[in-house]
Amino acid sequence: MDEIKIIKKDKSITIQPKINIYEVNRKIADENLQKFKENNVISIDIMGAIGAGKTTILEKIVEKIKDRYNVVMIGGDIATTIDTERINRFGIEVYQINAGCHLDAPLIKKTIKNINLADTDIVLVENVGNLICPAEYVLGTDMRVCVVSVTEGPYMVMKHPIIIGHSDIVVINKIEMAELMEVDLEKLQEDVRKINPRTKIVLTSARKGKGIDELITELGFD
Ligand code: MG
Ligand code: ZN
Repeated sequence: MDEIKIIKKDKSITIQPKINIYEVNRKIADENLQKFKENNVISIDIMGAIGAGKTTILEKIVEKIKDRYNVVMIGGDIATTIDTERINRFGIEVYQINAGCHLDAPLIKKTIKNINLADTDIVLVENVGNLICPAEYVLGTDMRVCVVSVTEGPYMVMKHPIIIGHSDIVVINKIEMAELMEVDLEKLQEDVRKINPRTKIVLTSARKGKGIDELITELGFD
């Protein structure tokens, strides 16, 4: 059960919410995963802040695998269709969800009803650019990836332990900017390992295509 902790000066109060919304979401997520598995679909949830490079990473992945696999992309966005249009240019099927600050399992359930999963090999979900609630709302994908950009500064990982803790792969992107941003890549990786020792870390410079092959291997698309 999740708790809400309110800290006021030296008093600390814990409130227990009556209904666990995450549990309701999780049940539907389990159904989604079941649907994907029944159809031999590999599904990936890609999370990260706005501007971290999620769409660029997707473009590079899709470009490399679209001739070998039937790929479908689901994009979550608050207001625009910019990202799904970028991916649609590769000639793959895309679904746009204009959601609030995160996607959730019921939205994915509704969307995949429109997809011919039997003819699909891979579903790539680009979550809404947000580091907070997407972490808690599992969608029912095989894997969850968090994209961190060095442009978010040296404390991005330490300040977002929940999303890092929920990720199977942490991608550290825009590594070519690390020196300029005065971000120590070794320290950033150490921070990730401290929070989540089981997660894989992949360093990328997505615009230049660096690290994409390694990421494709980690995602199991070889
Ligand atoms: Mg994007
Ligand atoms: Zn949210």
